Amino acid sequence: MTSFAEFHRQSIEDRDVFWAAQAQLIDWKVPPAQICDYSNPPFARWFAGGQTNLCHNAIDRHVAARGDQPALIAVSTETNTERTYTYAQLHAEVQRMAAALQALGVKKGDRVQIYMPMIAEAAIAMLASVRIGAIHSVVFGGFASGSLATRIDDAQPTVIVSADAGSRAGRAVPYKPLLDEALGLASHKPQAVLLVDRGLVPMNLVAGRDHLWAELRAQHLDAQVPCEWVDATHPSYTLYTSGTTGKPKGVQRDTGGYTVALASSMPAIFDAKPGQTFFCTSDIGWVVGHSYIIYAPLIHGMATIMYEGVPIRPDPGVWWSLVEKYKVTHMFSAPTAIRVLKKHDPEYLTKYDLSSLQALWLAGEPLDEPTANWISSAIGRPIIDNYWQTETGWPILTLCNGVEKQASRFGSPGKAVYGYNVKLIDGETGAELTEPMQKGVIAIEGPLPPGNLMTIWRDDQRFVNTYWKSIPGRLIYNTFDWGVRDKDGYYFILGRTDDVINVAGHRLGTREIEESISGHASIAEVAVVGVADNLKGQVALAFAVARDNNVAGDPQACAALEKSVCNHVDAQLGAVARPARVYFVSMLPKTRSGKLLRRALQAVAEKRETGDLSTMEDPAALQQVVEAMIRG
Ligand code: AMP
Repeated sequence: MTSFAEFHRQSIEDRDVFWAAQAQLIDWKVPPAQICDYSNPPFARWFAGGQTNLCHNAIDRHVAARGDQPALIAVSTETNTERTYTYAQLHAEVQRMAAALQALGVKKGDRVQIYMPMIAEAAIAMLASVRIGAIHSVVFGGFASGSLATRIDDAQPTVIVSADAGSRAGRAVPYKPLLDEALGLASHKPQAVLLVDRGLVPMNLVAGRDHLWAELRAQHLDAQVPCEWVDATHPSYTLYTSGTTGKPKGVQRDTGGYTVALASSMPAIFDAKPGQTFFCTSDIGWVVGHSYIIYAPLIHGMATIMYEGVPIRPDPGVWWSLVEKYKVTHMFSAPTAIRVLKKHDPEYLTKYDLSSLQALWLAGEPLDEPTANWISSAIGRPIIDNYWQTETGWPILTLCNGVEKQASRFGSPGKAVYGYNVKLIDGETGAELTEPMQKGVIAIEGPLPPGNLMTIWRDDQRFVNTYWKSIPGRLIYNTFDWGVRDKDGYYFILGRTDDVINVAGHRLGTREIEESISGHASIAEVAVVGVADNLKGQVALAFAVARDNNVAGDPQACAALEKSVCNHVDAQLGAVARPARVYFVSMLPKTRSGKLLRRALQAVAEKRETGDLSTMEDPAALQQVVEAMIRG
């Protein structure tokens, strides 16, 4: 068996040989003429000259051998429905949707915008788009009309696929009025809107523009729509990053490189086998959802569970009941979801038979040690952190246990994944940092591996300037994350380069302080931000959720716990890292994908305008922050 070190070395030093072998994992109509064309850095053209199709690799090629095997299992604890599509059924359903899109005028290279809740039709629309060579652009269902309008204007879709409503915690969340509003705001007008009517809220249809999926589906029940073979470098989708400023960036993904990267990740990273069941709790509006709810499990011939609902309804055991019921082998979630569960009794998890589960992968934000410890003892399975970005499409750092089993280190997402030539760089001088535990910017030497963004949609210059020109004197991809690497090659993420705070001349990562505070026995969750201070330049302020819900409303209890938390940080990190204040709230401001809105917190703390809050889960959270600060 090849060691991981050797596997990684080959992927960088014998790049073409390595990736030519990985390319064998997928079907090609025309095999690639070249493995990596990097003649025009930083633009990499993976598998140039090859022709393939993402939908063919996800569905069609499995139908003969596993037509009756479950492919997509759509579970909704909002509508209390569970629908299983076998590979053969999904094949038929995707062709119906593909025929409907074609009937509405979609051709190869056209965009199909998808603004949908977590229902099977969303996955079907994605697969149908790539089947006919169209480019999908999923907009997270929680975005409001302004954000949707900007994305419509950037993607310029021929058709938008949407639904009457989503549902959250038992309440219908209408989508159609928001879509209509967005279409009023946007200057681009799509030819048609295709709507799934779930019967949750009434819809007003615009004559000539709006079409019902049920009607079009009925017209195309027997549709046979062959896969359109596209160049490996043909875009499969764009996905807008959750960037905080200005115009959103449309991360553009190719077809061949993405399919190969995902296909290779299933055995190498996840140690997964065809026929097993993958359960990723993300949302199709995020990159993790694209890669690990939809494409990778299907490319690998697995069943994939798509879940609509919250993790604690009808009770905090719901996900684990699905693990038992569907014999889930691989589960993928985010630390924030685990911190939600952590507020409840671990018995909810342990009462189910989790013996099918190999491991739980967590990504998207720092995995703090207390959360990792809690979930690991609750489910008795390995917890595997993995670090990546919308831009990369699959993990940059993790443990490739399918290549070689490696011990995890708490606080570290692991080592550089094969294909990624990761470097730590001094952000000011551009010098490479090679000594253990030197703090630097995590950067990736080009070419980025297959599956990573090709460019920014219709903005090559922005791609180059944003990601490749921000480190002096080097053409290198900047992740904008700080990190260190230990002597064995394990990385530790210290937060965004843009989240760094400087207290009285000391550079501190808010992440380090958060990790310390969340280790306090009475704290469930915390966010730390740097706030301008006349004396020290910046000070750290902590906003914390206590494990005991009564603390936030009780000034005496707040004061006592604040003191105790400060003592804890003093003892762990030193007084320099002690937050100036710890405010208690019952929830933190987060995006619907669970990321802390640190910038909004910081703005409130500095009494500035908060900017765009359209991604915020619950506006009441910021109000609580304001009130906690007024109470003092
Ligand atoms: P997004 O593109 O929205 O997925 O956000 C990517 C950013 O999330 C990264 O640049 C990191 O700052 C953060 N991130 C993702 N995964 C991890 C992880 N495992 N540990 C720490 N930070 C992470």
